[in-house]
Amino acid sequence: MDVDRVDAVIVGAGPSGAVTARRLADAGMSVVCLEQGGWPDYSKARAGFPDFELVARKHWDWNPNTRRAPGDYPVDDGDSDITALMYNGVGGSAVMYAAHWERFLPSDFRVRTLDGVADDWPVTYEDLEPYFDEVERQFAVSGLEGDPALPPATAPPLPPVPLNKVGRRGAEALNRLGWHWWPGSNAIATKDYGRLHACAQSTACPFGCPVGAKASPDRTHWPDLVADGVRLVTGARVRELVTTASGLVDGVGYVDHDGVERIQRAQVVILCANAIGTPRILLNSGLANSSGLVGRRLMMHPFGNAIGIFDEDLESWRGPLGQHLHSLQFYETDVARGFVRGAKWNLLPSGAPLSMMLPGLWGTEGSWGEDFHTALRARLGRSAIWTVICEDLPDESNRVVLDPDTVDAAGVPGVRIEYRTSENARAMMDFHLTKLELVLREMGATQTILNGHIRASGWHLMGTAVMGRDPATSVVDPVGRCHDVPNLFVLDGSTFPTSSGVNPTATIAANALRCADALVRDRAAQVVPA
Ligand SMILES: Cc1cc2nc3c(=O)[nH]c(=O)nc-3n(C[C@H](O)[C@H](O)[C@H](O)COP(=O)(O)OP(=O)(O)OC[C@H]3O[C@@H](n4cnc5c(N)ncnc54)[C@H](O)[C@@H]3O)c2cc1C
Ligand code: SF4
Repeated sequence: MDVDRVDAVIVGAGPSGAVTARRLADAGMSVVCLEQGGWPDYSKARAGFPDFELVARKHWDWNPNTRRAPGDYPVDDGDSDITALMYNGVGGSAVMYAAHWERFLPSDFRVRTLDGVADDWPVTYEDLEPYFDEVERQFAVSGLEGDPALPPATAPPLPPVPLNKVGRRGAEALNRLGWHWWPGSNAIATKDYGRLHACAQSTACPFGCPVGAKASPDRTHWPDLVADGVRLVTGARVRELVTTASGLVDGVGYVDHDGVERIQRAQVVILCANAIGTPRILLNSGLANSSGLVGRRLMMHPFGNAIGIFDEDLESWRGPLGQHLHSLQFYETDVARGFVRGAKWNLLPSGAPLSMMLPGLWGTEGSWGEDFHTALRARLGRSAIWTVICEDLPDESNRVVLDPDTVDAAGVPGVRIEYRTSENARAMMDFHLTKLELVLREMGATQTILNGHIRASGWHLMGTAVMGRDPATSVVDPVGRCHDVPNLFVLDGSTFPTSSGVNPTATIAANALRCADALVRDRAAQVVPA
């Protein structure tokens, strides 16, 4: 048994865990981070090589059930409209993210007040604003200040990724329609920055960035954190929380990479394991659930896309899969549309050949057979993808539960997710795809393909340990402290009361930093085990 006691143990080495570790270490606290996976293997980052797409579909598969890497655990999604996607290893799911870096908008924090649905957050955009600025510096964000759809903000540290031919087409079409667009904001270094190198526009962002331009914590945070004395233990699968007789947590029980059961004791425990992994640990520990809401209110952002095919060569195999540009034209509620809240659009290059011929982002069927070569010639370099991220409203019947039938490699129970897409999101998707078809025609597309509700799209995980002031209706308080267990914190997207209609990592990271700041500030008053 390992009985070393530290000030804080963090579970999970993704963006929320990394940002939290940085803040606590800077305050002089002793920190251990337990991460069930290992370091990413960038020898498998094969952009530019002939086997790129084959390796991408195996080693970098977004679905843990398909990938089956050593750090993964079973997630039974048979009863879910959306498949949960993630990466389990140092850097967390950011190792695979497309790095679209979007702040939640002010209205996202006030949907009960504005639209009479779901809940307001107990914090506001203004509370998060300084933390947004700070995490943009930590994650090398590139973009352009002055977006009229957002409040005035500090300029991101790096200039935006180039629009390229596809982006310029999209921007010109939106200008003619008189609709909003702005250069995309991405956690992608457009110049050398810290440990990152300038982007080479290889369009491989979610399949292992080969040059180290994409900001994921295995590159931006952990090397320095480890050098600064934070202990990062890889291959450490946390099974449950260890408690004292007085109802505090005393640390976590985990299985190390040799299969040995260990305990890491700590004054505070911080869960940063994402909105599937965090409720898995809480439910397996039988803790922090007097509200009955642990695992409930799972939100995953219904996702669709509108693809255009053009007669001209737009070199759309090129450019970061970070977004060229985004549009928030129809983001805010207009009840005349028949639904509440809205969605974000972003424009992407269409990438490499195999991805456009197999089932996935281009539709459920794939395009094998007689027309294969004709279809490939029509698509490769001559296509553009608009994606739609719909706001997902919380519903208690959408949930994560322990799966009695599966365990991971260390014998820790797997999970099952139960999730149905709401009628509100279905109406929203239909509306947005209709508008995007217009945009594509305005861009000059000769053919359009509309894919609503793509199943393999649960990359944004939120809501399963909701934050609020009332212990009867929330799991954690406004700074992430569990109402039931005052030295147990949740600082990942599990705590989000609502999901917004934009990518969440900027807000996950900013909120983790805000809560870590509060933890440091209130440290003298923190209740800890005797
Ligand atoms: C393919 C893909 C594309 C995406 N694109 C975008 C995008 O463009 N923009 C955006 O904003 N977001 C995107 N996301 C989502 C983004 O990656 C996540 O929002 C972000 O990584 C969440 O950070 P986190 O630290 O809270 O959780 P994660 O990054 O998921 O990290 C959690 C970590 O906890 C570890 N862990 C879990 N359980 C245990 C346990 N029991 N014991 C030990 N360790 C454990 C996991 O192994 C993992 O490393 C994408 C995700 C995917 C998969
Ligand atoms: S496009 Fe840029 S950020 Fe994306 S994988 Fe290539 S080099 Fe990395």
